[in-house]
Amino acid sequence: MAKPESRSSARQRGYDTRWEKARKAFLAKPENQFCERCNAAGLLNVGNLRMDGSAQTNPRRIHLVVNHRIPHKGDQRLFWDRSNWEVACPDHHDIRIQQEERGKIRSGTDINGRPLDPNHPWNKA
Ligand SMILES: [Zn+2]
Repeated sequence: MAKPESRSSARQRGYDTRWEKARKAFLAKPENQFCERCNAAGLLNVGNLRMDGSAQTNPRRIHLVVNHRIPHKGDQRLFWDRSNWEVACPDHHDIRIQQEERGKIRSGTDINGRPLDPNHPWNKA
């Protein structure tokens, strides 16, 4: 399903019909049914969960996306390199995009963007 609210900005970044087709085909593969980063954390997330394992309640976020491991920054080779693609849930994708926009991974967070500080609210059960 297309998400109209993000369409114009996504198009400005170079995502077009060709990308839409390639993305759908990639997500249709049997090995690409789960968010990779959730999987690495022991969570099988087909897009129905938040990255903490709780149920995703926002219907507009129940899906998986294709994320570029290395930010392509307009580089067509990186953009179309399937080995640079990973399946991500919206939570993990948001974190990735934020890191990309900042140009670096924030200190004080792990690779998934979670705060390392044990007193941070995210780390309290
Ligand atoms: Zn995830």
